[in-house]
Amino acid sequence: MSINTVLVTGGAGFIGSNLIEYLIKKNYTVISLDNYDEFYNKHIKISNLKNISNSNSFTSIEGDIRNKELLSTIFKNNDIDCVIHLAAKAGVRPSILNPIDYYDVNVNGLLCLLEAMKDGKVNKLINASSSSVYGNNIKVPYSENDNIDFPISPYAASKKAGELLNHTYHHLNNFDVINLRFFTVFGPRQRPDLAIHKFFKNIYNGTPIDIYGDGSTSRDYTYIDDIVQGICNSINYLENGSNIYENINLGGNSPIKLGELIELIEKVTNKVFKKNYMPMQPGDVNKTYADIAKAKKLINYTPSTSIENGLINFKNWYEENKS
Ligand code: NAD
Repeated sequence: MSINTVLVTGGAGFIGSNLIEYLIKKNYTVISLDNYDEFYNKHIKISNLKNISNSNSFTSIEGDIRNKELLSTIFKNNDIDCVIHLAAKAGVRPSILNPIDYYDVNVNGLLCLLEAMKDGKVNKLINASSSSVYGNNIKVPYSENDNIDFPISPYAASKKAGELLNHTYHHLNNFDVINLRFFTVFGPRQRPDLAIHKFFKNIYNGTPIDIYGDGSTSRDYTYIDDIVQGICNSINYLENGSNIYENINLGGNSPIKLGELIELIEKVTNKVFKKNYMPMQPGDVNKTYADIAKAKKLINYTPSTSIENGLINFKNWYEENKS
C-alpha cells in the first residue's frame, strides 16, 4: 500500500513542523492537527508553520486530539493513509506538577485518536514515544529489549501507557505501529523549555543558568534532521510491510555530559556562562544512551549530525529568531 497522505498530530510543534516541511518537499499531502497548547507561546507555533502555510499540499487544522467529532470529520473528509502522532504534553518536570493533564492528553488523547483511526479505517501509525520510558536504566546503551517497567515521572509513565495502548490496537485491530523512542531532540525551533534552548537564551542575555547536579549527568542528544529521517524511513517501512508492531530507539548514539555540553555551547557562541549549581531535580534521569542497532537494521537509520554541528545550526537559527 502506498502512503501519500499523512495526518500529523502536534504538527505546529518543534518536531512536527520540521517534519512537515520535509514531507511537503517529498510530495506528501499533509494535514496537521494541533491545539496550540499553552505550554509555550502560540505565536512560536504559528511561526513554525510559516514556510509551508501557503502550500497546496498542506492543511492546518486547529483542534484537540481529544475532540472525537473533529477527529471523525478529519478521517471522513480526507483520504489519510498514515498517522504520525506527535501531539502531547511534553516535558518531564512539568508533568510532576500537572500529572492529570499529562495523562489526559497523552493517554486519553491517544485513545481518542486510535478509536477514530479504527472507525476511519486507517491502520498505520507512527507514535512519538520517548527515551524516558527507560527510567533510570543502569545498563547502557538502552536497548528496546530492556525492561521499561520502572518510569520515574508521570510523563514517562504516560509514554509507556501509549505504547501499551498501541500494542492493544495492533493485536485487536491489525494496526501497523511503530513507537519511536526519541532521545532528547535538539535543533532549530527546539522547545523553549528544553536545556539547550534555555542555555542559549541565558548566555545571550548574560543571565545565570541553573545546573542541576554536578554536571556529570549525560544525554544522548539527537539532531532534528536525524529524527525527521527516522520518521520518514518509518513511513517507508510501514508502506512496504504488514503485521508490524515495533518499538525503535532514535538516538544520536553519542551521549555528552552536561558539563561538556556547557563548554561546547561556550565554544560555539564564544561567550561564557554564569552558573548556579542546584540539586538534581526529581524525575530527571542520570543518563540516556540509545542502542540504535535495531533502528539501523529495520529502518536504515544513521544519525549524521554531531552535537557540535547541531549546536552551530541551532546558534544560527537562534540568532535569526530571538526576540
Ligand atoms: P512540542 O510541544 O513542540 O510539540 C507538541 C505539539 O502538540 C505542540 O504544538 C502542542 O500544541 C500540540 N498539542 C499538545 N496537546 C495537544 C492536544 N490535546 N491536541 C492537539 N495538539 C496538541 O513538542 P516536541 O518536542 O515537538 O515533541 C513532539 C513529540 O515528541 C511529543 O509527543 C513528545 O513527547 C515527543 N518527544 C520529544 C522529545 C524531544 O526531545 N523534543 C523527546 C522524546 C519524545
